Amino acid sequence: MYTMGIDIGSSSSKVVILEDGKKIAGEAVIPVGTGTSGPTRALDEALKRAGLTLDDIAWTVATGYGRMTFGAANEQISEISCQAKGVHHLLPAARTIIDIGGQDAKAIQLDDQGFVTKFVMNEKCAAGTGRFLEVMARVLECEVSQLAQIAEEAAQVVTISSTCTVFAESEVISQLAAGRSRADVVAGIHQSVARRVAGLVGRVGLVPQVVLTGGVAKNAGVVKALEQELKTPITIAPMPQITAALGAALYAYQSGSKGCESFNSR
Ligand code: ADP
Repeated sequence: MYTMGIDIGSSSSKVVILEDGKKIAGEAVIPVGTGTSGPTRALDEALKRAGLTLDDIAWTVATGYGRMTFGAANEQISEISCQAKGVHHLLPAARTIIDIGGQDAKAIQLDDQGFVTKFVMNEKCAAGTGRFLEVMARVLECEVSQLAQIAEEAAQVVTISSTCTVFAESEVISQLAAGRSRADVVAGIHQSVARRVAGLVGRVGLVPQVVLTGGVAKNAGVVKALEQELKTPITIAPMPQITAALGAALYAYQSGSKGCESFNSR
């Protein structure tokens, strides 16, 4: 049985197709999210990679900020639950999940069964999210995917003191104008994200194993800064951007299996 999870975020759309609740048959990440062609493109791409059509999918769960906008889903489940499900499946020892996405950041605590016991979310402010990094990358005339490499050359981290993204952007511009190296400034940008996220994590408590998910987990500079801020090692989830979509596909397998049971017993 094939089941599908679709995670429609604020800045990207992710799809995972699972075979019998175990094997990933196809997956896709499209870097545009809710309100765009992203969800349809991610769906088409994942189906193509799996060699399937929509008719082959027994059950679909939509998650993420834009989950209510996807009409083809059988069910919608919150991204907190799906994130926990996906991470627990991949890393059963995970007790704290830190998810840094395009426009929000979350800290989730799990029990040993993978159930969510606590969570906090920053969705009000771009600081401490991928959006902050995108704004700064524009000022630095580079891609977000290049930031980590630039920061590797840092000799002395520039402290970015503004917590507001708009003021922090002005601070970055004036530090560069004052002759500070791009590397030192980028390391400061990573430290700023890490400080904000560490504040969020402090509100749920830090229980190991600590696992990082979300697109920003692909930025090794943020990971390093966060490990320094939290004074703890962090495990980057395998395929960190699609863990919530994987969780959604696992929930879809549970629901789809129940559907088949009641159908067979009729
Ligand atoms: P959402 O689910 O909120 O749409 P994601 O978890 O997909 O967000 O994360 C999107 C963010 O991930 C982007 O804002 C971007 O900053 C970051 N990102 C995506 N790909 C990369 C990459 N290759 N390197 C560094 N950062 C990345």
